[in-house]
Amino acid sequence: MALTIAGLSKTYPNGVRALDKLSLTIGNNMFGLLGPNGAGKSSLMRTIATLQEPDEGTIDLDGLNVLTQKNDVRKVLGYLPQEFGVYPKMSALDMLNHLAVLKGIARAGERREMVEALLQQTNLWDVRKKALSTFSGGMKQRFGIAQALLANPRLIIVDEPTAGLDPAERNRFLNLLSAIGRDITVILSTHIVDDVRELCPRMAIIAAGRVLLEGSPLEALQALDGQIWAKVVATDDELRALEAELDIVSTHLVSGQHEIRVFCASSPGAGFHAVPSGLEDVYFLQLSRHTKH
Ligand code: ADP
Repeated sequence: MALTIAGLSKTYPNGVRALDKLSLTIGNNMFGLLGPNGAGKSSLMRTIATLQEPDEGTIDLDGLNVLTQKNDVRKVLGYLPQEFGVYPKMSALDMLNHLAVLKGIARAGERREMVEALLQQTNLWDVRKKALSTFSGGMKQRFGIAQALLANPRLIIVDEPTAGLDPAERNRFLNLLSAIGRDITVILSTHIVDDVRELCPRMAIIAAGRVLLEGSPLEALQALDGQIWAKVVATDDELRALEAELDIVSTHLVSGQHEIRVFCASSPGAGFHAVPSGLEDVYFLQLSRHTKH
């Protein structure tokens, strides 16, 4: 599977430029699309999912023109939007069956097999007869994946799926995505760095509708090796002084005290110790370089 996005731009009627000549190539496996709120992730996801038009640019999915051959694209694509709003009193089983009919899976036997397999795969078999309206956040997201997988898509797009899940539900959901990602391409859009770190062999960081970095999270981490330094700062004055002078990646509270992380080729000064780089360092550095330019 290859998805090639080239020169995609979108300005909404209110003047917001959500996508700014964005180009990106996505191959097999899990691809993480990481960016802060407002970066343009949902706009990009909706455009790939054939739900909105860009002003300019092209998207090619294995030879299909996504912008013009919408029906062909929809046959091979599953989409879990950020707000999957339909949670009626209908049971998971009935709803999935209903959605399968809408997807054009006409033969009852084939449909039953597919629906049952998906309920098993997403670990919803035991609750299949319960109303969707009673589902927890994690169960709803797993149902969202089940519906996105109807009709064997080659590509599924999930938009901010772990926001609002508790740690156990998030874990279960990420495991499910990772299992799916072994067979088909999954684009995971998220502002949560750990989602990408845990799941994605490739990623892009985007902000203001542009790609800041594209590649493998591991390589991005290695590029920072030995250049991230940490120090616990005693006073606000010291913090301000260091902020003025150093390339600070992030400031965290550790037991009520500020710990700063700094990007520097060699030790930035007394009290700093080298720490292993994390994907969060990669992310924050990219974002801060982007804001400075
Ligand atoms: P993300 O998913 O990364 O949070 P979005 O694609 O939702 O980013 O939004 C990108 C920018 O476009 C934001 O500034 C957002 O407010 C704006 N935006 C998104 N959808 C619309 C819309 N339908 N009309 C006007 N502005 C929009």
